[in-house]
Amino acid sequence: MTSRQSTPPIVGVIGGGQLARMMAAPAGALGIHIRLLAESAHECATQVISDVVVGDFRDYETLRAFVSSCDVVTFDHEHVPNALLRRLASEGMEAKLQPGPNALQYAQEKVKMRELVAPELSPRWKQVADIDEARDFGFPCIAKSLIGGYDGKGVWRVESDSELSELLKHGGLLLEELVPFDAEISVLIARSPHGQAAVWAVTETIQENGICVQTVTPASHLSDEVAGKAQSIALTIAEQTGVVGVMAVEMFVVGERLLVNELAMRPHNSGHWSIEGAITSQFEQHLRAVLDLPLGATDMRARHVVMGNILGGDKADLHRAFLHLFARDPGLKVHLYGKEVRPGRKVGHVTLLGEDTKRLSARALHATEFFAGRAGEHDE
Ligand code: ADP
Repeated sequence: MTSRQSTPPIVGVIGGGQLARMMAAPAGALGIHIRLLAESAHECATQVISDVVVGDFRDYETLRAFVSSCDVVTFDHEHVPNALLRRLASEGMEAKLQPGPNALQYAQEKVKMRELVAPELSPRWKQVADIDEARDFGFPCIAKSLIGGYDGKGVWRVESDSELSELLKHGGLLLEELVPFDAEISVLIARSPHGQAAVWAVTETIQENGICVQTVTPASHLSDEVAGKAQSIALTIAEQTGVVGVMAVEMFVVGERLLVNELAMRPHNSGHWSIEGAITSQFEQHLRAVLDLPLGATDMRARHVVMGNILGGDKADLHRAFLHLFARDPGLKVHLYGKEVRPGRKVGHVTLLGEDTKRLSARALHATEFFAGRAGEHDE
């Protein structure tokens, strides 16, 4: 008798963090098989994805074997060395890598991204190898490591020659003017190999000490015209880079001007609101895009959506917060990532849909503070 079981496509995901973990729910719904390349059997995505290869993504043979075993491969982070991806591409695996190395280089190397983006959309910038090259740039400025960095790590506000000399001991830097921004926004966009693109409403990201604490969608205080301009900048970058999957384009708003800050080529923290807040979430869209399927509608399910990041505090047991928070706020949606709680670490997020951004923000703040152990049961 012939088997009548349908064969699901296998999407390989390199990296076992919360982004891979959150791909599991839409993959399950669509009957897509996810295979994970995780650095250890303890990474948080391994709790919800059963097909796990434990191995080092910096090792070419490990990568090659993993990519060979999947129909398409995508990423939970941007740390896979570009040279290894190029080698895989040259060995006939280019079509499996989504996004591919050509696109990914712009998310991996900040100078490459700066060279790509139109000068009027970038802060003044300069790549410097030593203090002499930095002399006339001016202080205060922002210094960034050339590769890597997340959550404000690898980004420094620099006030003087001596501070900069100290940082330059560890290698070259990208210097940027200190942008006096009014707000930070993120435009989330998905693109498929066919070239279909879909963009979500612009999100405002609210940061504290370099970490995003809340997002508000659509971004408040942004005219329709500026929001449209932000979306069209993201579309242009998606086309120019040839990215496949979800990309977040982080930007500064300075009056009516927009300046591009950073690109991420994967689902992004600024898009978590879309799980409950949009017809198609960034995680489902990412899977559809990397499999070259038609993209889903990005319309919002409510007028406003606020997402609050749960940052680790001194309470190790996050689940103890459920009873109080669920009783207090039945509209609250909670996502915990199954990660060990460490102070300041992103360990989950909450989402609220509704009509009044201020109320939604206050409810999100209470929940995230309560998870972190900083709010009492009776706090407003
Ligand atoms: P990462 O995503 O690695 O944390 P970013 O480039 O997004 O690094 O920088 C982190 C934060 O630093 C930004 O969200 C912003 O608040 C601030 N920042 C970065 N570049 C500038 C700049 N040129 N001017 C002013 N602030 C900046």
